[in-house]
Amino acid sequence: MQVNVQAGAIQEVSSDLVVVNLFQGVDQPGGAAGAVDSALGGSLRELIAIGDFKGNAEEMALLYSRGAIPAKRVLVVGLGKPEDFTLDVVRRVSAVVARKARELGVTHYHSIVHGAGTAGLDPAEAAQAVVEGTLLGSYRFDIHKARPENPEPELEALTLVQLDEASLPAIQAGVRVGQVVAESVTMVRDLVNQPCNFCTPTLLAEAAEQIAAEAGLAFEVLGEREMADLGMGALLGVAQGSNEPAQFIILEHNRDRSDLPTYVIVGKGITFDAGGLSIKSTGGMQGMKLDMAGAAAVIGVLHAIGKLDLPLHVVGLAPATENLPGGRAYRPGDVLKSMSGTTIEVITTDAEGRLILADALNYAARYKPQAVVDIATLTGGSVVALGHVAAGLMGNDAELMQTIKVASEQTNEKVWELPFFKEYEEQIESSIADVKNSGGGDASAITAGLFLRKFTDYPWAHVDMPGMMASEGTSGYTVNGATGFGTRLLIQWLRDRANQAS
Ligand code: MN
Ligand code: ZN
Repeated sequence: MQVNVQAGAIQEVSSDLVVVNLFQGVDQPGGAAGAVDSALGGSLRELIAIGDFKGNAEEMALLYSRGAIPAKRVLVVGLGKPEDFTLDVVRRVSAVVARKARELGVTHYHSIVHGAGTAGLDPAEAAQAVVEGTLLGSYRFDIHKARPENPEPELEALTLVQLDEASLPAIQAGVRVGQVVAESVTMVRDLVNQPCNFCTPTLLAEAAEQIAAEAGLAFEVLGEREMADLGMGALLGVAQGSNEPAQFIILEHNRDRSDLPTYVIVGKGITFDAGGLSIKSTGGMQGMKLDMAGAAAVIGVLHAIGKLDLPLHVVGLAPATENLPGGRAYRPGDVLKSMSGTTIEVITTDAEGRLILADALNYAARYKPQAVVDIATLTGGSVVALGHVAAGLMGNDAELMQTIKVASEQTNEKVWELPFFKEYEEQIESSIADVKNSGGGDASAITAGLFLRKFTDYPWAHVDMPGMMASEGTSGYTVNGATGFGTRLLIQWLRDRANQAS
């Protein structure tokens, strides 16, 4: 979908549909809504007066212009209460508008930039949010349907119409960022929504290679032979139960720029998690194609960083394998030797994510990073603690975690810090190896984090997000299926790092 920006007054635009907005509690519309209302002879004021439009967030009213203005239809969307208004309201409102436009069969519509006027948001950020909401809210994944259920034509173009010419450059810039971010999240959703037979470790690596080429990134993949040479015994331990070869995907932006600060992001890429010999139930296995959502997010983030050409050296690591109970599968009780030399007693083969991350986190050290962030669908414990509202945040560096919280507020991809109290450490002590891969059910998100900490010797943060990777329904810019969670969060975090460095 194309996004254009033009200067002008929305009531003068010729279009199949123009979009304006209204806060809750306003009975005399001003700004663009007021101008449209006056041109239409007060039909919006009439709706408000008789109580048919209240301005609740995401509420919509459709007006027909009957020749009073060049546009055929006017969609008024509610912004809710002014005191509750945020960038995320802009995203959600833009998403419901996009779906409404598609439902109407409109393929090109015109909208003001919600929030950039009297609401007082930064015009670039508001424009970015409009584009993100529009593109993510109209996302569909129907490539496997022989007969798609949605007869509505795809949206082709959105034109943002801005009266105040002074803010046009900021809006252009925001649109550009929003397009890159939304395109990256869309790629992530596509990868995560793909069934496992369309997204094996090898196919994931191939997709990453294509994305790398498109975004101008360096691409490399380590095969099992190279992993063995490096001593990645934890990752290979998980991989040995599957016939699909493991892949260690490496994407790099500004690979040759040793003058730039280096950040590494790492994502768990279990393309299917059957639990291994500690096999899951039929129900527990449902949805386990999503267990590579961390790796997909890393690939998407690197895509965005490359496209935005951030002045940072950024490395994305995505260890990818299946976790299956094949004849050569690793067993509960086995001891695996990780790349760091730390030995791991396997308590359950279903705690596989931390094993592949252990070797990836150890590998990350070679880049001498300023900071490393990993993102993973790691523990049911984080879902018990935080539900489907926030991901768990842990780490060894309070300042680093603070910067992630800042990016979280900006993107509304919520994280909440879980503590690393010393008392938890004994849960993962092993009598025969250096550490156990499971500390049992109590505080399991935290003990998984403490396990990972053993493989880090740099500022590090960990995002545990299995509750956030998919949605069962459609609401705002979240649509049924993969959410792409973490992608916007880490793009924002890296943009903040770049701003801070320059
Ligand atoms: Mn598992
Ligand atoms: Zn898993």
